[in-house]
Amino acid sequence: MSVSIAIDGPAGAGKSTIAKQVAEKLHIIYVDTGAMYRAMGLYFQRKGISPEDEKAICGACREADISIVYEDGAQQVLLNGENVTAYLRTEEAGNMASATSGYIPVREKLVELQQKLAASKSVVMDGRDIGTVVLPDAELKIYLTASVEARARRRYLELKEKGSPCGMEEIARDIEKRDYQDMHREHSPLKKAEDALYLDSSEMSVREVVDAIIDALMETLMEKRVPDRRLDGVLEELMKKEYGIK
Ligand code: C5P
Repeated sequence: MSVSIAIDGPAGAGKSTIAKQVAEKLHIIYVDTGAMYRAMGLYFQRKGISPEDEKAICGACREADISIVYEDGAQQVLLNGENVTAYLRTEEAGNMASATSGYIPVREKLVELQQKLAASKSVVMDGRDIGTVVLPDAELKIYLTASVEARARRRYLELKEKGSPCGMEEIARDIEKRDYQDMHREHSPLKKAEDALYLDSSEMSVREVVDAIIDALMETLMEKRVPDRRLDGVLEELMKKEYGIK
């Protein structure tokens, strides 16, 4: 039996760091759906299409073939066959993704790809609409958030470490703008799925959040477990060894 864990939440809440570690612990794959919207945004940017030009975006979206491969366990995003992973983690790419992710053809195309990825394998998938739209039957849904201040501070330290410092206030403004866009768009806005566990990581360490998610997963699996349906190898082992669950 494969298992799906959906992690949704606003920009900068630590979803990717957390999701990666959860996936590593469980030896299952991590699917970063934001990277797919960023790759799509990069395509529009390269074509010189403005995010407001709905007609051009919807047309160009059909020409952009996005696919995912894994290299040493790390997700790589291919845009029409080119590995564009290295270009996706900039503020510019994030803003372009946020400005174009509300268009239906963009969403339909990427949601289909995401559902295919989760159909046959156990996954930890993070994004904005994973628990609500992409994987409504996920075994575990998490809504991970943090205050704007905490998120801005983390992003500031991250950028500083990369050698591209930026003002804290500017980062906070960007975060608020993206929250607003993602939560108020017409299609698949960011919101907590009714059955998602709400986690505010403002005062929590990465380790604490990861442990809370693994604990919640073990609890859910115990409740939902159907006898004689075996889980993916490592999950079965983990449940037996660390949690004494037979
Ligand atoms: O998570 P990340 O910051 O990489 O996402 C970039 C943008 O892609 C988000 O601001 C959001 O607009 C969009 N996105 C989305 N649905 C997802 C993942 C990301 O709309 N499942």
